[in-house]
Amino acid sequence: MTKTQVYTDIDYDKEGKQQGYLRIPHSRDSSGWGNLFIPITVIKNGRGPTALIVAGNHGDEFEGQVCIMKLARSLRPEEVNGRIILIPALNFPAAKAGKRLSPVDGKNMNRSFPGERQGTMTSIIAHYVTHFLLPISDIILDLHSGGYSMQFIPCALMHKVENPDQYKKMLEALLVFNAPIGFLMREVAGEGLLNEEAEKMGKIVIGTELAGSGQVSPTALKIAEVGTRNVLIHFGLLNGEIITRESQGLPPTRLVESPNRKDYVMSPADGIYESFYELGTEVKKGQPIGQVHFLDRVDWEPEEVRAESDGLMICRRGPGLVERGDCVAVMARDVKNSGSWIKE
Ligand SMILES: [Zn+2]
Repeated sequence: MTKTQVYTDIDYDKEGKQQGYLRIPHSRDSSGWGNLFIPITVIKNGRGPTALIVAGNHGDEFEGQVCIMKLARSLRPEEVNGRIILIPALNFPAAKAGKRLSPVDGKNMNRSFPGERQGTMTSIIAHYVTHFLLPISDIILDLHSGGYSMQFIPCALMHKVENPDQYKKMLEALLVFNAPIGFLMREVAGEGLLNEEAEKMGKIVIGTELAGSGQVSPTALKIAEVGTRNVLIHFGLLNGEIITRESQGLPPTRLVESPNRKDYVMSPADGIYESFYELGTEVKKGQPIGQVHFLDRVDWEPEEVRAESDGLMICRRGPGLVERGDCVAVMARDVKNSGSWIKE
């Protein structure tokens, strides 16, 4: 049996609705024997799959946190067939501070998986998720937004996993989320991600990027709420009808991918980034898409930033200030055949 430093009085096998906490020792100058309490809600009713729904993996991404808090308050056990585990703010110290990284140890939760039992706070939380929550879950929804630094067209996203059966189930879940964009993702952000850890276990794993810029966008929140319910209905965890985009008078989900590093445009310099376009603009390779202004050298011409590939701009820099290497835009292209890499 794997050990953990996390204590909870939640019984994951108990029928009904439980609201409690994951407690982690948090010894500090002001509280020698103190604990960090992370809110968790578990709703179980009879047989059925288990869905783990988390947000606040990054603390400055708010739509998912609000979506899950509302779900945690409203869901009643009699509505559920199976088990739903809800954690609105996984990196709780980061969420309380409204920051991407934890103020306790400076770590990025979504680069800390699989985590360490005797690691720092963020790593201990990741370790608990890896060894105690992922193994008992069938479906994992990890709700992200762009954070302070980025802004997205709201999208549901997934990785191109190699197992054809897992891929097919994930793609169905991605489409049933009914976001404006379905993003088949190549990871450029590094290793240690929650979704990769869950994918390795063969789970059905869907993420999101819901607007961002540190806001709670009403449009993105609605998409998150409808999408999360749709996924739960799709897997039989809730009764009810899936709300399609068509039924809301909206065009179908546009399935896109950004397979090349060149699709992720980085700032060439420190300064103020001026984007020439809003999200959703189609651009061509070589087209100027923005420029960086140099605050202390008004006599210098701004440095031009060009698209390095054709595509739909699905993400752009949120705040004006940039440093060299910051992501200022992401270009995506339509997926021609979403089944093309499945080995039949
Ligand atoms: Zn995030």
